[in-house]
Amino acid sequence: MKRYCNSYFRVDTQRVIENYRKVQEYIGPSTGIIPVVKGNCYGYGIIPMAKLYKNCCGAEIIACSAMQEAVDLRNAGLEGEIVVIGGIPQHLLDGAVEYDLQIPLFEEKTAYRIQELTSSSEPVKVHIKIETGMNRLGIRPGEDLERLLTLIKTLDRIEVVGVYSHFSTSTSDYNDPFALIQCERFRSAVEQIRQAGFKPKYIHCCNSAAIAWFKDAYFTHVRSCTSLLGHVAMEDGREPIGLMEPLEIGAYITNIHHIDTGESIGYSRAFFADRPMDIATISVGFGDGFYPKWFRSQGPVLINGQRTHFLGCCMDQSFADVTGLECEIGDKVILIGSSGDERITTWDMEQFCGNTFEFLYGTIGTRVERIYI
Ligand SMILES: *Cc1c(COP(=O)(O)O)cnc(C)c1O
Repeated sequence: MKRYCNSYFRVDTQRVIENYRKVQEYIGPSTGIIPVVKGNCYGYGIIPMAKLYKNCCGAEIIACSAMQEAVDLRNAGLEGEIVVIGGIPQHLLDGAVEYDLQIPLFEEKTAYRIQELTSSSEPVKVHIKIETGMNRLGIRPGEDLERLLTLIKTLDRIEVVGVYSHFSTSTSDYNDPFALIQCERFRSAVEQIRQAGFKPKYIHCCNSAAIAWFKDAYFTHVRSCTSLLGHVAMEDGREPIGLMEPLEIGAYITNIHHIDTGESIGYSRAFFADRPMDIATISVGFGDGFYPKWFRSQGPVLINGQRTHFLGCCMDQSFADVTGLECEIGDKVILIGSSGDERITTWDMEQFCGNTFEFLYGTIGTRVERIYI
């Protein structure tokens, strides 16, 4: 069915497939990739991206953060292994049984609850989450972990298929000292779990930034969202894998008008012209979920190969300075991507907004059409 959207978010799926291949080559054949598709796959669209990873990249297991995300994937027909990696409210745990989902386990209450829920069904597959320094979800190696492992052995409805943890500082620098400490804590937990007789298939603690530099932390699998999407994971912009951005974000000019010195545009007269100007009205606004600073602080745009910038925005529409530019009503406005010899990358926009692309793209709403080529 034809859609009638004012703006678009276009994904070149060949590039995503190529990024997946490059990450696989970078980590080597003995480590697997767990693609992470949480938060609507950082704006890319959770269902198409999960299907792309599973059907075109050969991913064996897909990770999402919330139970409902996993249920949405199942309802969209995604078969195979799915693991929820975020914390799950107790009253939603039956979803794991109903939809055959793998879940995190790091405390006893959930263990007892699973045992109760599965009296007449298959065991639930769990990934034990280890607390190594993030202090968000997880159980500490040593006594606490020992107690949980002892309990699990008495519960026949729990199958341990994984063990994982998450770095809190891997994006800041190669060989970040705290990440090294976290990895050692994780390694000791993995050893403890093996000693207790468990043989988890999935042992994973690297995110995209750690993939770039932390080869000793690869274990059996790495988790990635950022790198597979071709974006830079390190805070300083280092990207050793040679990834490609698959993304173009665009909208359209719906009006062009001339204003004189001293005239204003928009609500509250937010911008005053200090010279005669040509102003284009653009078919995208903060109601489409864009980070307000992007449009309000005069973020860059490309029109017919020419670079200019926003002058402000309303909920559904925004303004750009087109003084002296070649353009007309109906022309495309590129927010992210290339036009002629000009290019605006995700990295450029992260620097401009002072925020990571998870924030910038993760909030982009459904009025912005997702196109997959
Ligand atoms: C979001 C998330 C990831 C993916 O992180 P990237 O840096 O985008 O690869 C991996 N693991 C956990 C636990 C996460 O929450």
